[in-house]
Amino acid sequence: MSLRSQLGHVRRGILSACHQRVVPLGDRGPIVTFTFDDFPQTALTAGAPILERYGARATYYVAMSLMNKTNELGEQFRYEDLISAQSSGHEIANHTFSHLSARRAAYDEFIRDLAWGETALLETLGIHASRNFAYPYGEATLEAKKRIGPRVLSSRGTCRGLNGPEVDLNLLRANRLYGDASRGQEARQLILENEAEKRWLIFYTHDVAANPSPFGCTPELLDAVCSFAAARGARFMTVAEAVQQIAPQVSANQHPPASNHRPLERVPFAPAPTNQESERVVRQ
Ligand SMILES: [Zn+2]
Repeated sequence: MSLRSQLGHVRRGILSACHQRVVPLGDRGPIVTFTFDDFPQTALTAGAPILERYGARATYYVAMSLMNKTNELGEQFRYEDLISAQSSGHEIANHTFSHLSARRAAYDEFIRDLAWGETALLETLGIHASRNFAYPYGEATLEAKKRIGPRVLSSRGTCRGLNGPEVDLNLLRANRLYGDASRGQEARQLILENEAEKRWLIFYTHDVAANPSPFGCTPELLDAVCSFAAARGARFMTVAEAVQQIAPQVSANQHPPASNHRPLERVPFAPAPTNQESERVVRQ
């Protein structure tokens, strides 16, 4: 293991262990959740029909500054896609406005961007979007985990593993679903472990295409994983549905954005602050 990956391992361990907000999963597992980040249009046009065929709905973590854009993951979502996804029962959740890394921005800048994301979703969809959140690039910090945690229903990172028996709402574990059908065995193994231990397994990916980006998957892989989970009797839930089940008191007590982080300080959809990191190719 290289020094860099060792440091990453230590960092993830510390992040996972500190500032937890734990709720018991109880007997609700095995749960399987599919999430799409950013999100590329194919996550909806190609991804959603596959999930829906098996009765599953996804959580789409949306960075609103990407609407109508094209980047290395292909064409990004459009307004109509948000409406379509929501009307089909998928969850629309927050991924910051500018796809900003918590590790590359000062905390105040990061929390403002998170609030702008909430506001943009609210003004676009006309209702409060889900209060579930995912860290862009999976890059959480100890300070962000501590301070953002109680502000949202849940925060998802990219630390691998299963959630439970104690679920940390401040940093949900998630597992990448990248590549083609040759990666299916890895995912099937996770589904079997999740079933045996009755936990909550979250997958994340980006585009869904025959020739996906390095951060996406093929329709064949998504179909194989989803059909296997369905055949094994997993319960498909969005993040919102799972949080509602395991922490109804948290969902009931969800509060509006903190007044000291007024999201209306700027107009949604105005160009985001220049941030080199939001253009980085490395993406999670
Ligand atoms: Zn992302």
